[in-house]
Amino acid sequence: TTLNLKVFCDELITSIQFSDDQNHSIVLNYQLPDDSLEMDDNLLRHILINLISNALKYSPSASEVRLEVSDFNGMVRFRISDRGIGIPESEQNRLFTAFNRCSNVGKIPGTGLGLAIVKRCVDLYKGEIQIESKVGIGTKVTVLLPIQQ
Ligand code: ATP
Ligand code: MG
Repeated sequence: TTLNLKVFCDELITSIQFSDDQNHSIVLNYQLPDDSLEMDDNLLRHILINLISNALKYSPSASEVRLEVSDFNGMVRFRISDRGIGIPESEQNRLFTAFNRCSNVGKIPGTGLGLAIVKRCVDLYKGEIQIESKVGIGTKVTVLLPIQQ
């Protein structure tokens, strides 16, 4: 689908923000030269909703969650970052395993399926995903997706 990516991201953030009861600010930093791109909006929606939802869920209320969209070697780079609880280093290698939850989630609810789904979607897209995180500092997820010509 040809998609106005900036409008797509704006609308997605508005709808996620609407259902967030914790008063986070979700900031979009859109740095692509053009807005009109050939992308699979369905896969992209799954990926971004899951990642932004995690960023909100695992960070304190009223903190900032960022979505950066930029160009990287002809691919689109999405970067979702939060200042939340972070992920223990020794547990970072099993994040894409279904039903996996990290030891520091406390009472925050979840099924452990979101990232497994995201990984499937990124693979279907022939993209890449990378997660960097420090406990008590925050988490940064980078997704690279090719643009269809
Ligand atoms: P759900 O199926 O509802 O998404 P979930 O959020 O627990 O449940 P995943 O999204 O797959 O499942 O995430 C797996 C685990 O990775 C989480 O339980 C949490 O421990 C950790 N995690 C994921 N994203 C973050 C984040 N942004 N900050 C801190 N921990 C995270
Ligand atoms: Mg999740």
